[in-house]
Amino acid sequence: MARFEQVEAYITCPYCGENISVLVDTSIEAQDYIEDCEVCCRPLALSAVLVGDAVEVTARRSDD
Ligand SMILES: [Zn+2]
Repeated sequence: MARFEQVEAYITCPYCGENISVLVDTSIEAQDYIEDCEVCCRPLALSAVLVGDAVEVTARRSDD
């Protein structure tokens, strides 16, 4: 299995409240990054943490 892999995670956009999916690079144990919401296009501050085989992603407004 390739070491570099991306998994899909689901978050709720803190701006528009829509459930959207984001791709997370699981070769990194913990990461914070900015990604635009695919619905409202506003910048989300995402925190992704690997927990065993799963990934937990939380989304905040990037201007908080
Ligand atoms: Zn949104």
